[in-house]
Amino acid sequence: MSLLYNLCLKFYTNCIDFLFPASCPLCCAPVSVHGELCADCWTSFNWIGNPKCEKCGYPFPANLDLGEKPLCPTCLSGQCVLDFIRAACVYDGVSRAAVLPFKHSGKIKYSCFMSRAMLWALRDMNEKPDLIIPVPLAWRRLRHRGYNQAVLLARPISKALGIKMDLDSIHRIYKPDMGHKNAKERAENIRGVFKVIHPEKVKGKKILLVDDVMTTGATFAELRKVLQKAGASEVYGVVFCRVVRAI
Ligand SMILES: [Zn+2]
Ligand SMILES: [Zn+2]
Repeated sequence: MSLLYNLCLKFYTNCIDFLFPASCPLCCAPVSVHGELCADCWTSFNWIGNPKCEKCGYPFPANLDLGEKPLCPTCLSGQCVLDFIRAACVYDGVSRAAVLPFKHSGKIKYSCFMSRAMLWALRDMNEKPDLIIPVPLAWRRLRHRGYNQAVLLARPISKALGIKMDLDSIHRIYKPDMGHKNAKERAENIRGVFKVIHPEKVKGKKILLVDDVMTTGATFAELRKVLQKAGASEVYGVVFCRVVRAI
């Protein structure tokens, strides 16, 4: 029975591959695996490797030898917005050109390569989180956009790591867009927008927050504040790309 099932599944998969051959989600060049980037698109991203800050993942110049577990000045001074942060790549022209349509124009198929890259970025996470929480969208924005891009990224990560995803413990109040604001304005704009409505679900838990972009870290900082107040023990974060400013 299972042999027949496997043969049928293989036949079905071959038919799908024949009718819809795998192509790069960004440039449509042929690729071997559905949802994966072609070599040219892959190399155009500024992926974050080593050396990087042990705690927040800030990338250091390749030729800098800072020892085995280097820390950036922000983390050395104890001002990291979360207990651990990883980003797959740097926010630049290339990642921006992928993130904007993913977020605003329905290019949800990008979630496949983005979440895979985020899983790769998490490979040196020592602690296993208890819960994965995608950064919530306000209901009004969700209704307008039709989907929360952070949920699309969190779902495959949750599945791959075998960690439950929580979508209803935190409520987000609607506030106009934060675009083009400085760090101080972003922090003020985000203050008070998150409310933990199920504190019993996060109490004592190690939580991994998932988002598409980290700009100043104001969103993560605000979420950590409300989660810690609700009793969460540790708060980590992973994003597809992060803004990297000179420090
Ligand atoms: Zn491509
Ligand atoms: Zn750091």
